[in-house]
Formats: sequence, C-alpha cells, structure tokens
Amino acid sequence: MAVINLFQDIHPHLYHVEFSDKKPSGADYVCILRKDMLLLEERDGGISLPRFDTVRSVLSVVCEDLTYLFSVDGISFFLSLRTADEAGGFGYHPIFAFRELKPEWLGFAGATAFQLALWYSSRRYCGRCASLTTHKTDERAVVCPKCGLIEYPKIAPVVIVGIVDGDRILLTKYAAGYNRYALVAGFVEIGETLEDAVRREVMEEVGLQVKNIRYYKSQPWAFSGSLLSGFFADLDGDDTIRVDEKELAEGKWFHRNDIPTDGNTMSLTWTMVEAFRSGEVF
Ligand SMILES: [Zn+2]
Repeated sequence: MAVINLFQDIHPHLYHVEFSDKKPSGADYVCILRKDMLLLEERDGGISLPRFDTVRSVLSVVCEDLTYLFSVDGISFFLSLRTADEAGGFGYHPIFAFRELKPEWLGFAGATAFQLALWYSSRRYCGRCASLTTHKTDERAVVCPKCGLIEYPKIAPVVIVGIVDGDRILLTKYAAGYNRYALVAGFVEIGETLEDAVRREVMEEVGLQVKNIRYYKSQPWAFSGSLLSGFFADLDGDDTIRVDEKELAEGKWFHRNDIPTDGNTMSLTWTMVEAFRSGEVF
C-alpha cells in the first residue's frame, strides 16, 4: 500500500495557529497579495515565500504594519497590507503553486497563509457600512471602526462520501475542471447537518440512497477555502446510478481490485479510496 501523507500532515513540524501579536524577524515569511495572486521568490527552478529581510531590503516594502498569521516550529508567517512590484527573481503566482511545493510542510503552510491572506484582503471594507476595516490585534478578526462589525475567518464545510456496496465503491468524474476520478462531494448548506449533506449530495449527484453514514477523517483544504469531512456510507437499495449531468461526466462502481490509481496521495479523497482498496476500512 502506498504511503499516504495528507497535505496537512507535516510531522515532525508543528503548525501553531493560536493567535498572537508577534512582530516579524529576519527569517520569517511575508505574504504580499495582488488581487488573488501571491508574490513568490523564484529561485533554483523552484518557488518560495519571500523572507522578511528580503521583503524589506530587495523589494523595499514598508513593513510597519504586518499582520501575524501563524507559525510552523519557530518560523512565523505574516501578511503585508502593502503590495509590491514584481522585481527580478520575484513573480505573482496563484494558490495552486503550493500544491506541489517542496518541502511539503512549506506547501501546506504557504497555501494556508494564502487562504488567510485572501480572507483578510476580501474584508478590507465592512460588509455592512462599506467603511475601511482594521485588523484586530488581540484576535484573528477584522473590525469596522465606524459601525463596530467584527468579522472572523470563514471556512466552508464540505462533505466527501465514499459510497460502498460490499466490495464496490462509487467513483465519479466532474463534468468540468478536475478530470480524474473522485468521490461524491459538495458544500454543506446553512441549516444542514453533515449527515444531511451526505444524503443530499449523494441523491443529487448520483441518484442513490445511503445508510450507515460514518465519519472517517477531515482535511483543511486551502485551495477552496474549505474544511473537508470524509464519510463512508453503505448503499441503501437500488444501485442504479443516475448522474447529475450539470456536475458530473461519469459515475461508476469499481470493484476493490479494479480501482484505478492516482498519483495524488495527499488528498482526503484518495486517502479514502486507498483505505477502501487496502481493506483498512471494511
Ligand atoms: Zn461598518
């Protein structure tokens, strides 16, 4: 069985997300956003977040008002409210640049910093009165100095469902975008439990009923600003798949011995598929 390290599994490194009003030092990383892109240092054929010293000296960014995001071990990540021009050796990149970044802990940390930076940047103005907001210094939030509205980071919960029928599991392919096999998945709606979302998404996407819904694992997923919750569920009744063609191109039962492989082992989806293939579950 393939060794699986989920994207967030950065052991022996430790992710410290507790809020603090830390000040930056030389080796800390700084996020500089332009719209939905992040400024990265391009070096030796790879990319990395720029360090605080580099941001000040090479990019000449004023760093008086950096917002602390989190730390990994002793290295902290900060957000700059100011932007910077692209200099030699630096360029703006989308969040997906972190997906394959090495070392893996920096890929996870960079994507997470990016998610927080995007959240802060999309709350620059108060959603109620449109005044400029400020970053709170005693907790991770923005506050409107005019009307007092406080906003905390938002995470969108998603369910991923491994639908099982004896030795078979159901895999799907999206109609657009990601074109490899996946499991049924969807965002949880307001007012819904995770279990309700599992039942609804399975019915909407593949027209099946499920029972014995059981939680497997979760995964923070910066690329969609979500928290993924993985469940396995047993088919309940008729196994005829009726695919929602707006969302899916394909839905198909695979016997445990015939499941295709996928190079991607850091996603919760494929961790679940591999757990089923190997018999770790059922
Ligand atoms: Zn306001």
